Amino acid sequence: MTDSQNNSVLPVARRTEIDDRAAVGIDFAESYDAGLIESILRRRFDALGFDPRSQAGRRVVVKPNLLIRYAPEKAATTHPAVIEAVCRIFVSAGADVMIAESNGGGYSEGILRPLYRICGMEAAAEDSGAVLNFDTSFRTVAYAEGVASKSFDILEPLCTADMIIDCCKLKTHALAGMTAGVKNMFGAVPGVKKFETHARYNHDLRMFFSFITDLCRLLYEAKDFLCITDGIEGMEGNGPSAGTPRKVNAILTSFSPFQSDVAAAALIGHEGQVPINELSCERGYSVQTGSELVISGDSIEKLKVPDFRPASPNPLAPLRNIPEVLRSRPKIDHSLCRSCGECVSYCPVKAIKLEEKRGKNVASIDTKKCIRCFCCQELCTFKAISVSGLPIFDTVNRLGFGI
Ligand code: SF4
Ligand code: SF4
Repeated sequence: MTDSQNNSVLPVARRTEIDDRAAVGIDFAESYDAGLIESILRRRFDALGFDPRSQAGRRVVVKPNLLIRYAPEKAATTHPAVIEAVCRIFVSAGADVMIAESNGGGYSEGILRPLYRICGMEAAAEDSGAVLNFDTSFRTVAYAEGVASKSFDILEPLCTADMIIDCCKLKTHALAGMTAGVKNMFGAVPGVKKFETHARYNHDLRMFFSFITDLCRLLYEAKDFLCITDGIEGMEGNGPSAGTPRKVNAILTSFSPFQSDVAAAALIGHEGQVPINELSCERGYSVQTGSELVISGDSIEKLKVPDFRPASPNPLAPLRNIPEVLRSRPKIDHSLCRSCGECVSYCPVKAIKLEEKRGKNVASIDTKKCIRCFCCQELCTFKAISVSGLPIFDTVNRLGFGI
């Protein structure tokens, strides 16, 4: 990661007119066939009145969710068939198309190469004519309207893009309830700077969600913006990385990630459980419920998966300002821990160390230091960390009452 260029201001596009086009397209799609997805998206763009040729000669940056170095089948990352389809459309429209991401770990070429390869982005870029980003510089961008912060460190390719395509994955999220369009833009913050952000909002979860909402809004206002949500196979349960793949059979398309996330929450039956959606609604960026949206394509009711399991067994987890004692916490399964040390390196408050337990070196959490950011749960590639609620919630969840 290289040094920032301080306090740039991104030029603001004519965004208000797009705010009024609050439509979300929802399309049934049950397989990861890039050709099929391409034709679905072309039809949807047409119906939304968007012509990709408007981007000819411009820089289009596709931002997937590549949270972790996992193969696409695990459903933790945006599927490469969706990325390939999106890139093909914009490459054939004459745009310069780049795929750019910074995941939850470090941000260097050495980290990006295997991330892109394992997540299928190398092949998606090659097959579509897009390029992969290896520029690890960033800018500190001023945003006077920010509520939680007035400045943001943002990946250089997103700063120089004419259009951002937020190609997110529909998943549960231990901290945020759900991750889709808005939360995906937290990946605009380079590498470990994300952990600094967690530490900064240590005891104020609402301000942390506010930071993410500000950041997404800044990029949405500054650039042409399109949000495409890969909900063909989402993730339920212990998301965003250690949950279970679950078919939703839907692709969502919208100019607004805020409105799109309202539809996404409704599709998985999690309305009222996503604090970032509440913030978006309070600020007037979105409607409150899926029933208020202008939907084109398939209806929410038709594709809804009402028993989509939440990330946490604690029903209070997505609520803000709950007492510390009632908050969910990370729990390590020592039988699965491989002592890789990833969680130790990335814990923003150094609450984890490796120590010997029953003759085995395993990760151990100092619960007094832990700020419940769940970065460790996101990043453990061995699924050794889960989210635990109070014993009563764990018991209810085990018994399958589906809170
Ligand atoms: S808990 Fe996971 S990330 Fe942490 S040391 Fe063990 S295997 Fe590695
Ligand atoms: S132990 Fe895990 S949840 Fe707690 S602060 Fe560290 S990374 Fe975050």
